[in-house]
Amino acid sequence: EAALPPSALTVLEVLEEGGFEAWCVGGFVRDALLGRPLHDVDVATDARWQEAQSLFAAAGLRTHETGVAHGTLTVVAGGEPLEVTTYRVDGPYGDGRHPDAVSFSTSIEEDLARRDYTVNALAYHPQRGLLDPFGGLADLGAGVLRTVGDPRKRFEEDALRILRGCRFVSQLGFVLEEETWAAAVSQKSLLARVSVERIRAELDGLLCGAHAREALLGCVDVLSFALPELAAMRGFPQATPYHIYDVLEHTAWVVQRVPAEPALRWAALCHDMGKPAAAFTGPDGVGHFYGHAAVSVELARGILERLKAPGALREEVLALVRRHDDVVEATPRSVKRMLGRLGGDPALFRMLCALKRADALAQAPRCAPRAELADELERVLDEVLAADEAFTLAQLAVGGRDVLALGVEPGPTVGAALHAALDAVTDERVPNEAEALRAFLAAWLAGQ
Ligand code: ATP
Ligand code: MG
Repeated sequence: EAALPPSALTVLEVLEEGGFEAWCVGGFVRDALLGRPLHDVDVATDARWQEAQSLFAAAGLRTHETGVAHGTLTVVAGGEPLEVTTYRVDGPYGDGRHPDAVSFSTSIEEDLARRDYTVNALAYHPQRGLLDPFGGLADLGAGVLRTVGDPRKRFEEDALRILRGCRFVSQLGFVLEEETWAAAVSQKSLLARVSVERIRAELDGLLCGAHAREALLGCVDVLSFALPELAAMRGFPQATPYHIYDVLEHTAWVVQRVPAEPALRWAALCHDMGKPAAAFTGPDGVGHFYGHAAVSVELARGILERLKAPGALREEVLALVRRHDDVVEATPRSVKRMLGRLGGDPALFRMLCALKRADALAQAPRCAPRAELADELERVLDEVLAADEAFTLAQLAVGGRDVLALGVEPGPTVGAALHAALDAVTDERVPNEAEALRAFLAAWLAGQ
């Protein structure tokens, strides 16, 4: 039996002492029964939001009118926000995404019936126990995602449910029940009605799930509506001595092996996307993929722009994809050069190491030493950081002013001279000191 947090007990108590009925519902009940880490608590009640609000006010609890149009009030108990929603029956779904109108109900069963999957349609109360009108508990035990009612109708109402299902596959390690899956595939084009922001949020959740590999491979027929790029990866053979998987399968392994952060998981998803387009077979009959990283970068850029990903995420993903196959040696010089290419960001460098490690481990066993190289690179990075050495223009002991002082006209030569100086410093040909660098600049300019 799930032990409810004190904040939830308080909220249920306040509502029930006020003469209403209240239950814990949604992902909280599901995750508690699965023994998964708990996050937001959702409460359903027959109280209207105004009635709930005045009861909470009388009990000294703060509220926020976060979604009162559809009956949702946020109440803060014990410092935690809880969502309290009036029992609802959703009206017809004119746009295939939102109900035209919601009407409130006095029946918890009706409220549970509007929910998407049986495992999300469970209600729990500390005295009355579990309410399970749709067999959610059995599905939870079997690891099955089944819509409440006819999946075709439920996806027709709100196509987001299709993607939520794929996300739950990844987060819970469940499988979509046969009819539910068949409906998801045949109705995937309804996803065109879902906003790109919501699609990206679901894909973020899917990519960061513990079972992302199974979700990518198992749901590719649906996901390829949102990410058509996946279709070309699937079954694309990598006829090289280095690979044992096709591009999609290799990709799925890499996604699951990198730490669960959106930038890394998106980078893992996209890193080899350019291979099908970049591939050619050499005279030796072996496949080559020269330049595939650059093609992958363009595909990743297209996806992230289409999905309106935030700029910072986009930049990190593109840098990781662009550099994932660059050769970096476990020497200070090579590591500093890569750091410079990554804008001097050590965190990004560590992400690149994680990607390289996962990439190597998802290839043929002969590539395993390259995974150890990634560990090696991080050790060298620590040394380089501890030594406080220069690997970006900003850290260089000279700047544009020093170049101009040598009689150079403002223009591209200034930047070129500084880059040459940075190369000299990272190569340890010149110390990072103003005097020595000015001499280097003078000599470099004389040679131009
Ligand atoms: P999590 O919070 O872990 O992502 P969740 O199942 O709690 O998962 P929420 O978006 O928090 O998802 O929604 C809470 C509950 O509301 C769900 O468990 C489900 O019962 C219901 N729900 C959410 N979105 C939909 C939807 N699009 N269609 C039908 N019911 C939904
Ligand atoms: Mg939730």
